Amino acid sequence: MFNSKYEPLIFELSAEGRSGVALPPSDVPETKAEASIPREMLRQDLPLPEVGEVDVIRHFISLSQRNFGVDTGFYPLGSCTMKYNPKINERVAGLAGLRELHPLQPADTCQGALRLMYELSEALAEIGGMDAVTLQPAAGALGELTGMLMVRAYHERAGEGSRRVVIIPDSAHGTNPATAVRCGFEALNVPSNERGTVDIKKFKELLGPHVAGVMLTNPNTLGLFETEILEICDMAHRRGALMYCDGANMNAILGQSRPGDMGFDVMHFNLHKTFSTPHGGGGPGAGAVGVKKTLQPFLPSPTIEKSDKEYRLNFNMPESIGRVHSFYGNFSVLVRALAYIRANGPAGLRAISETAVLNANYVRSRLLDDYDVPYGDRCMHEFVASAKRQKDENSVRALDIAKRIIDFGFHPPTIYFPLVVEEALMIEPVETESLQTLDAFVDAMRQIAQEAREDPEIVKTAPHNAPVTRLDEALAARRLDVKWTPGG
Ligand SMILES: *Cc1c(COP(=O)(O)O)cnc(C)c1O
Repeated sequence: MFNSKYEPLIFELSAEGRSGVALPPSDVPETKAEASIPREMLRQDLPLPEVGEVDVIRHFISLSQRNFGVDTGFYPLGSCTMKYNPKINERVAGLAGLRELHPLQPADTCQGALRLMYELSEALAEIGGMDAVTLQPAAGALGELTGMLMVRAYHERAGEGSRRVVIIPDSAHGTNPATAVRCGFEALNVPSNERGTVDIKKFKELLGPHVAGVMLTNPNTLGLFETEILEICDMAHRRGALMYCDGANMNAILGQSRPGDMGFDVMHFNLHKTFSTPHGGGGPGAGAVGVKKTLQPFLPSPTIEKSDKEYRLNFNMPESIGRVHSFYGNFSVLVRALAYIRANGPAGLRAISETAVLNANYVRSRLLDDYDVPYGDRCMHEFVASAKRQKDENSVRALDIAKRIIDFGFHPPTIYFPLVVEEALMIEPVETESLQTLDAFVDAMRQIAQEAREDPEIVKTAPHNAPVTRLDEALAARRLDVKWTPGG
């Protein structure tokens, strides 16, 4: 599978008797060492490669270099906000006083940590226009679940448990309908109009006494702001439904507008997208959830409260939906988020959204000659281009373009999402990239468009410079094979 023009596999370097270590002979008698290991765990035949230390080091370092991340290159993955985050916040999260806390410590011994969480909740409430925030959920999807469980509890308390439907636009992130169904609701699709936003007429038709809530992303996944959001919220509220905002990508509106002011009752933030924890690294995340006063009694317990002289954990919440995570959530992510918010301040947070939106519009307008962008005259933090032209004219698909961009050293954009755009290429350049990087990406995308016209084979057979070429991605996901087996 690996392209051997890069380097030989470590197993091919193996030579009998070669060793990577020079240790004095063991002074533990071999039979004794063997006796201390259970018999069934002893193997006669252990076919490990016999190589020198330098080969081992090169093997593992070379594997690590095949990992693409924001620290190695531009990563314009739409809807996911793969931005560079200040490394100083990693240092802050690693400070001994924070890192070595125990979650079972009595509250009077960790007042600083409680204050940190309390102040982060306050800051997020201010940013989102909400009244209270829980920091427990570990991801955006868990934030959605938390929020929608509160919506369910709210209706049940009001004796309206028969509200079983949640309206969700067809451009929504897949977690939205999954969340609704997981909470026992039925997910009902509202189509987008020709502008790519919610079709308000159809929306009105779907609203009824059986609707519990509406899950909306604003700006939506097409990178378009729902300009009729006030009317949408008003219509929903008048029919007794609550409004959920998927705020995973707050860098579009940070410091400019607030979901709470738009009329949303509950929202989640992805602290691992917008607020400084690297996203996509497979590590812990945090999907803080903000609510208006009406939903406050249902928040996961414990909440953190502040009295005259101390912070305390309040477990006495009879209407709480319960816990959604052990202890208080992923604390180190919360530390980074507060450090980020404080270091930027209000003006800095506004500059983040201004730059994210400016960068996306810059890339969008520079690509317009070569790619179709079916929706919107401008965009927010991301936009969705289409490879329909390339497909119709030269049978080059979005997938081919995504593979070809790898040869230029960039991570591909999100493809084939949202579903409302044919051959979708969803591009989110984020606020942390320089003009030079954006230009280099645009130049590469334009070159690929030219190749598609003049030499489509080069695009269709890409990538040409990557350690692995095209994989059967469905098979790779379903039947993971991450282990080398001798002779396999
Ligand atoms: C990333 C994202 C989510 C889900 O967040 P996770 O932390 O990955 O669970 C939900 N909605 C939108 C719009 C997103 O971009």
